[in-house]
Amino acid sequence: MKKLKQKSPIQGGPRNLVVAVLVIVGCLFVLTKLTDYTRQVQTLSYSSFLKRVNAGDVKSVHITGQHVEGIFKNNERFETVIVNNPSLWESLSQHNVDASVGTPSNVWYLSFIGALFLMLLLIAWYTIRQIKAAGGSGGGSGNLFSMGKSKAKLFMPSSIKVNFEHVAGAAEAKEELHDVIDFLKNPAKYQRLGAKIPRGILLVGEPGNGKTLLAKAVAGEANCPFFSISGSDFIEVFVGVGAARVRDLFAQARKNAPSIIFIDEIDAVGRHRGSGLGGGHDEREQTLNQLLTEMDGFQTTGGSVIVIAATNRPDVLDKALLRPGRFDRTVFVPFPDLISREQILQVHAKDIKLDPNVDLQRVARGTTGFSGADLGNLLNEAAIIASKKNQELVTMHDIDLARDKAMLGKENKTMRQTPEDLKITAFHEAGHALIRLLKPNESDPLYKVTIVPRGGALGVTHWMPEREKYHQTKDELIALIMAALGGRAAEELVFNNMTTGAASDFQSATKIAHAMVCDYGMSDLGPVVYNPNKKLEFSAKTGALIDEEIRRILTTNYEKVMDLLRKNRDKLDLLANKLLEKETLYASEIYELLGLEPRISHQLA
Ligand code: ADP
Ligand code: ZN
Repeated sequence: MKKLKQKSPIQGGPRNLVVAVLVIVGCLFVLTKLTDYTRQVQTLSYSSFLKRVNAGDVKSVHITGQHVEGIFKNNERFETVIVNNPSLWESLSQHNVDASVGTPSNVWYLSFIGALFLMLLLIAWYTIRQIKAAGGSGGGSGNLFSMGKSKAKLFMPSSIKVNFEHVAGAAEAKEELHDVIDFLKNPAKYQRLGAKIPRGILLVGEPGNGKTLLAKAVAGEANCPFFSISGSDFIEVFVGVGAARVRDLFAQARKNAPSIIFIDEIDAVGRHRGSGLGGGHDEREQTLNQLLTEMDGFQTTGGSVIVIAATNRPDVLDKALLRPGRFDRTVFVPFPDLISREQILQVHAKDIKLDPNVDLQRVARGTTGFSGADLGNLLNEAAIIASKKNQELVTMHDIDLARDKAMLGKENKTMRQTPEDLKITAFHEAGHALIRLLKPNESDPLYKVTIVPRGGALGVTHWMPEREKYHQTKDELIALIMAALGGRAAEELVFNNMTTGAASDFQSATKIAHAMVCDYGMSDLGPVVYNPNKKLEFSAKTGALIDEEIRRILTTNYEKVMDLLRKNRDKLDLLANKLLEKETLYASEIYELLGLEPRISHQLA
């Protein structure tokens, strides 16, 4: 979970300081104006000054540089600015004006210097106050005068409530991190034989998959302090601040060793050098260099400080970060697989009153692609749905609703469809579902089919993988294309007409066909990659061939789908009519209805 940032940089003390400075400058301005006013000095133009001199009105002048202050014979004061004009002296002596010359020293300069001096005093006073207030302790409040202090949040062991039990799944990551925990607990055991323990560990994975949780759990397990900071917290507008923060952070961590520093979003500082655009870039490089220096420093000082960093962009990191002695261990924290999802659900279910009929394994199966955070949210959302209905327990149905909401958006209750609309939707979805059912070896098992509109969809066919898939075969991709085309094919077969409802189906079918031709080498164009995005350009002629090949894949498979549906028209009608009757059908009901062999995963459903 992303935590809220602490105070904004200008707050409390510094804001007062800014106000104070403004007030002082303002006062000085008003004061100079006021003194001018009380002195009752007239400001003359050069020409009227000359006129008055020639008219014999002027008693005396005092010239400093180009500035002239003078007194008229009636004792009024005036001032003016003169141009370098030798004849002025003649005029002055001609009219008996008492002229004196001073070295240029300007009142304005004086007040400026005065203001500057005052400001400096004020800043010094504030700095001293801040240093005293901070008392050298960690966790700067993030204000202007603790800029060099790291903004890290420090968790002392007593306040860390998570350990590995709270991290479900992620078995590989935990195993990798076990060494680290052991090292933090008994550094002597390793130092005895001169073993070099990794000082930096890079956790790589998409947001919400538990990188922060894992890092904190390591601290919980090792019972040591945990410093947490985000890479972006290092970067400020001022060059050198980031580096100072890094220095401060490591100094604090060493003082509290054994300890863990966790840097979330390290890519904010760790982007490879020379890749910055514009101003922020020097600052980032300095910060990165400081980080590298600090990590190298460990080896010699031997403090048991371990740095755990997290990113989902390992590709942009500066290679220097990944060298031995730095982040030389990379631990992947992937989207949870089926078993992990079930375990994560179990962890989050601890706080929720679940109906005994809730089958978390089945929930896990229907949540491919959910992150750990998504799964936590899913159960929470289900609990909210159940609470709204004043239920005693959260049921499977609530979880199902929450899942549909997470995946597709809210159920659309106000949409009024004509019986004809519904019929088209029912055949469309039945077409998708039947193709999957007729190609069981290449398709994931069906989970449910519904014609209840939700989000932007009029109906949806859901399926659920039986197991984790790490690659897909050509036949599986073709089956996906066929299933996508099944909706439109059923409409055309039954109503001999076409609707716009198949647009997104065609889009996904086309995407798959495109990837088969251009990325996977699964077409007649051979094992060649054609991808301008990956700097693999091709000629216009090849482009035409690619288009032709994609079209061929789509049209031949569309024909095959029409053929399959035609041959199984009885099943298509049965399924569509049942859908119209019940709106939502689960896989087990469909198997029964169509007299098909149930797939393993649905014996649980
Ligand atoms: P990341 O740092 O990778 O973005 P977090 O560690 O912040 O992810 O995870 C956010 C939340 O998701 C956690 O606080 C936790 O509630 C939940 N979560 C993520 N992964 C797991 C997991 N493996 N086990 C239990 N809960 C998890
Ligand atoms: Zn469709």
